[in-house]
Amino acid sequence: MPDVLNFDGYFFDLDGTILLGDSLLPGVPETLAALRNQRKKILFLSNTTTRTRKECQTRLQKLGLESHLEEIVTAAYAAAVYLREGKLEGKPNVRDTRVFVIGEPAMLSELEEQGVEHTEDPLEATHVLVGMDMHFNYSKLHQAMKAVRNGAAMIAANPDPYCPVDGDLIPDTWAMVKAIEATSGKKPLAVIGKPSKYYGAKALESGGLPSDRCLMVGDRLETDILFGSVNGFSTALVLTGVTSEEDIGQSPVQPDFVWTSMEELLSMIQ
Ligand SMILES: [Mg+2]
Repeated sequence: MPDVLNFDGYFFDLDGTILLGDSLLPGVPETLAALRNQRKKILFLSNTTTRTRKECQTRLQKLGLESHLEEIVTAAYAAAVYLREGKLEGKPNVRDTRVFVIGEPAMLSELEEQGVEHTEDPLEATHVLVGMDMHFNYSKLHQAMKAVRNGAAMIAANPDPYCPVDGDLIPDTWAMVKAIEATSGKKPLAVIGKPSKYYGAKALESGGLPSDRCLMVGDRLETDILFGSVNGFSTALVLTGVTSEEDIGQSPVQPDFVWTSMEELLSMIQ
């Protein structure tokens, strides 16, 4: 069992781990303050595609948590970076890249921030970037299908089938990916958010740390904990989100630590 005090980087999921709806979860502000006091590196790693990094920062700030923009990595941001980096990997370069977007305005903002162009014309698109789109409809599906059938590569911003919101679950990115896959006959070329290795590499770049010095804390086994495992981080599951104690026994994905809330981490690091 790794020593929980002995990491240099502490990475946190947001929803269900740091906050729930409009409130911080118990022990969170004190835990983050104690880690900052000990000069630990903190990152917030979210699979959201409906908020920009700046909007995540503002959301945390409103709840009384100060953070640096570089401490926040979202799936929409990582997807925009992925598309910008296409140039470096010898894929179609940025000047040629035209992205047809299924998603909310946050995804367009992140693409713009990275200097990646988007298009409304499916026949001009080199990529179809898919995130959660609360206005997804028949016409958008038709356009995305047309783009992919015309040779555009589908990029999924994350592999989340649904997303927990206050007392409910709503369809997420993967539901739209599957609709486009069914109509185009093509699977996504890349899946960007947690648990991908690409997202892990972006987190480590932001953190400037080797993977074995980092602990990933999150509330979902199939994203947060699997993400930690495939990227070589130690992992801690908090039971303040979507996972119950019974779920753990039935899953092939096993965390190093299980905490009922962040207060357990706090009691160890104080
Ligand atoms: Mg979560």
